[in-house]
Amino acid sequence: MYINGKWENAESGKTFDSINPASGKTIAEVPDGDDRDTTRSIDAADAAFKNWSKTTVYQRSEYLGKMYQLMIENKDKLAHTMTEEQGKPLKAARNEVQYAADFLLWYSEEVKRVYGRTIPAPRPDQRFVLNYNPVGVVAAITPWNYPISMITRKVAPALAAGCTVVLKPAEATPLCAVETFKLFAEAQLPPGVVNLVTAKHPGPIGETFLEDKRIRKLTFTGSTDVGKMLAQQAAVQMKRTSFELGGHAPFIVCKDADPVKAVKGVVLVKFLNTGQACISPNRLYVHKSQMDAFVNEFASRVERMKAGSGFEEGVSIGPLVNENALLKVERQVADALDNGAELVTGGKRLVNDGLENGHFFAPTILKGVTSEMLIYREETFGPVAPIIEYGDEDDLLMMANDTHYGLAAYVYTDKLTTAMTLFEGLNFGIIGINDINPTAVAAPFGGMKESGLGREGGPEGILEYLDIKVGGFSLR
Ligand code: ADP
Repeated sequence: MYINGKWENAESGKTFDSINPASGKTIAEVPDGDDRDTTRSIDAADAAFKNWSKTTVYQRSEYLGKMYQLMIENKDKLAHTMTEEQGKPLKAARNEVQYAADFLLWYSEEVKRVYGRTIPAPRPDQRFVLNYNPVGVVAAITPWNYPISMITRKVAPALAAGCTVVLKPAEATPLCAVETFKLFAEAQLPPGVVNLVTAKHPGPIGETFLEDKRIRKLTFTGSTDVGKMLAQQAAVQMKRTSFELGGHAPFIVCKDADPVKAVKGVVLVKFLNTGQACISPNRLYVHKSQMDAFVNEFASRVERMKAGSGFEEGVSIGPLVNENALLKVERQVADALDNGAELVTGGKRLVNDGLENGHFFAPTILKGVTSEMLIYREETFGPVAPIIEYGDEDDLLMMANDTHYGLAAYVYTDKLTTAMTLFEGLNFGIIGINDINPTAVAAPFGGMKESGLGREGGPEGILEYLDIKVGGFSLR
């Protein structure tokens, strides 16, 4: 763990294993932190806040710039650790490190442009000034699916804003966090500005964060269930919060879409990270006139996809994170088939050709999926594409919006009117129109409804770490 500028063991002396999900082998042992380590980290972050919050934006920008440089210089090493610990193909891991580094660069620039403002006053002898102030010590909890970019997406704007941070990474990917923090240490940030607590059991860390009055902000990326629980606890002290939670993205193929273009798109976005992404399509609405062309093309491409270790050339399907993830996918597929869905391809665990020790599931297409099936409501987080046929355009928006999630949505159409109508009618925070990657560091990322609160990235992302202070000055 990295606490107050030093590498530390857990107070308990305990460790836990980081495991390669493709081979089941242990990669490393990391400290298993608990409430005591969390409190030490908060002590450090609180002490560091005093000076860090007073640094100029130019100083903070320079630190972030250095962190960016170091990340770029160490891209291959970080990507290697990510593939080993999280399982995604090496190329995807490299892309993620670039994305992660880009948050550091972007906020190193943006921080210089966080202007307060003056506000015209109703009285001639009155002046209003609005300042932005860092909220204080930030607790950050990150997931395993994007184990490095989710760290910088929080740390970069928080540090830029003048906050200090205690970060708890997911128990499945602690090593990615350790390697990232090694670079933060190399950038010579003052002690206590960023702190890392690794832990096998997240509960006590979360509780300590939320019970400690010095934590003024919680930023969380993970499941909706855990997010809701943390939101309730955070309410006790009315802490500032932002949540980036689950999703259930519709992917709509309209009757005027080019089916081949739509298939190329869905193959990339559905199987990205083996479906383990909150923006992964979870319902494919395909117009009945497109069904045959779409399904045939989709199946022929999916059948050519190769599963295996992310280090192997040509692999695009990595392992799922653990046995539970595999069981969830199996349960959803079995339920769909029991209730009348048709298996187009895949549908089973992969246990041959060296995959027996990992958590591999074949890329799968189901058609004839209906709203009664589990997969229609539950987030899958696996490589399964459920297809729903639609005919009536009027019903489409109602069906697509019929979910308590509201993160990402995708539309394929060649008609401007359809594109704009669906863009305006879909209740989701991020919408790709003929575009399967509607994300960038400069664009605010986040969801509606139970997909979360607040936004990450873009100018909105730094406001999550700033309090507004208004001064009314009387000149009389
Ligand atoms: P997933 O199902 O994708 O693993 P989780 O919400 O369980 O999603 O995990 C996301 C992050 O939340 C991880 O860092 C995990 O350790 C953390 N987490 C899980 N449960 C809790 C909890 N009770 N308190 C604090 N953090 C938690």
